[in-house]
Amino acid sequence: MTLRTLSRTILDNEARVHYTDVVALRRSQHLARRITSRGRRLTDQRLVVAEGLAGKREAVSAQELYERLRPRHPRLALATVYRALEAQVESGMARRLERGGHVSTYIACAPEHHHHLVCTRCQKVEDVDETILKPVLRGITDRHGFAVEHERLDFYGLCAACRRETAT
Ligand SMILES: [Zn+2]
Ligand SMILES: [Zn+2]
Repeated sequence: MTLRTLSRTILDNEARVHYTDVVALRRSQHLARRITSRGRRLTDQRLVVAEGLAGKREAVSAQELYERLRPRHPRLALATVYRALEAQVESGMARRLERGGHVSTYIACAPEHHHHLVCTRCQKVEDVDETILKPVLRGITDRHGFAVEHERLDFYGLCAACRRETAT
């Protein structure tokens, strides 16, 4: 079975993106399953946007991702990139973060719950060691009698590398 046949079979003839290697194909099959996991239709453009975000450890805005993807995908529109990113947030594939000036940025993310450290200088995003937060949540219950069901908590500041570079 050729790669092309394989991609068409897995993607149900809905997306016509072709792959040059098996690793890229496997990753895209995984993304395709996540895009469609909540009944959303798979389109070429949704897959292109998901691939553009996947594996990046820096937060990007819709505008930045659009500019990165446009040379290879000239028919892609900024509004499509924005909607595809928001859809990924809704289906738990990505998280929306903030940047100064009310700009939303995005990072591909596992659906398991976790929190992020976002560098405001280089845009690098790290997952927080969850054991750090457990005592905080316990403390909220102890002090406020409040049982936390979910929380949205990301931390903005300078990463270790940026702190070294900016140290005088
Ligand atoms: Zn994450
Ligand atoms: Zn940094």
